[in-house]
Amino acid sequence: MKDVRVLVCDPIDDVGVKMLREAGYNVDLKTEITAPDLVKAAGAYDALVVRSRTKVTKEVLQAGKPKLKIVARSGVGLDNVDTETAKALGIQVVNSAEAPSNAVAELVLGYMLSLSRNIAKGDASMKRGEWAKNKLTGFELSGKTMGIVGFGRIGFLVGKKTKALGMRVLCYDVMIDKMMNFVNEAGAESVPLDKLLAESDFVTVHVPLLPQTKHMFNAATIAKMKRGAYVINAARGGIIEEKALIDALKSGHLAGAALDVYEEEPTKNMELVKMENVVCTPHIGAESKEAQLGNSTIVAEKLIKALG
Ligand code: NAD
Repeated sequence: MKDVRVLVCDPIDDVGVKMLREAGYNVDLKTEITAPDLVKAAGAYDALVVRSRTKVTKEVLQAGKPKLKIVARSGVGLDNVDTETAKALGIQVVNSAEAPSNAVAELVLGYMLSLSRNIAKGDASMKRGEWAKNKLTGFELSGKTMGIVGFGRIGFLVGKKTKALGMRVLCYDVMIDKMMNFVNEAGAESVPLDKLLAESDFVTVHVPLLPQTKHMFNAATIAKMKRGAYVINAARGGIIEEKALIDALKSGHLAGAALDVYEEEPTKNMELVKMENVVCTPHIGAESKEAQLGNSTIVAEKLIKALG
């Protein structure tokens, strides 16, 4: 047995734990560890594995030195890890941001079909005992225009999949010049943001939440969207300003929206959730068996590469 100790602080798929053990590491599972206990324990481990529950604070990182070498966040985002302190202390931080891309892209397709064919509305009406056939006439996606804001891992997959549905695909990304091979592979067309907003029947956002993207979709942006269009956010809450979205849905400027993420989570914005033309899910973008398995194996691979 190598003298490498890994502490798994939040539940990850067993396959990743097995990979770490097969690499010869001593792996402890303490998936309900409290913040004070983590501070006490950190100094005994070479690596910590966390999801979103465990906060890897400055205190934890300082307590981890000199043994602690790497923190692995299973999943996307590093908001629960003090990356600045980690950098200053020379502790590497990795995540598995690539694992859920396909799961999120497929969820976006689900939203589009639900919005265009009134699937959620039809289901809700039947559960109320109604037969609302004549009120549920929708429209087809083929021939409509899809606008993708943020053409990274997820945006690209959404592009490929919506192209396959027969849609015209427009995309906008601040780094688009470096991604033209992906734009071409998806059969998409790179356009300025205003053109994308004006011409798209669906606009889906796949940018990270940064100071520059917070409320990127506000009243002014939404006003530039085509009347009767739909907007989708399965990226991060706060990219779309919820108040502006409610106003646009109420006025009829937007025909509908689909949301997986909210300005506050769990959301308390019941006015938005209860709107008839909104399809909502509770941040389930990465909740597929395949994505969870991917999170665990990618994290294990990255730890094994870093720790040897
Ligand atoms: P990515 O880093 O691969 O792609 C993001 C893209 O956004 C990049 O190409 C970047 O250049 C672009 N971008 C950044 N700022 C921009 C701006 N101001 N205007 C236009 N483009 C900009 O990320 P990804 O893996 O595709 O993830 C996209 C989003 O999805 C992230 O917000 C991520 O947190 C979120 N996400 C959500 C879930 C979920 O459960 N719903 C799961 C995974 C990822």
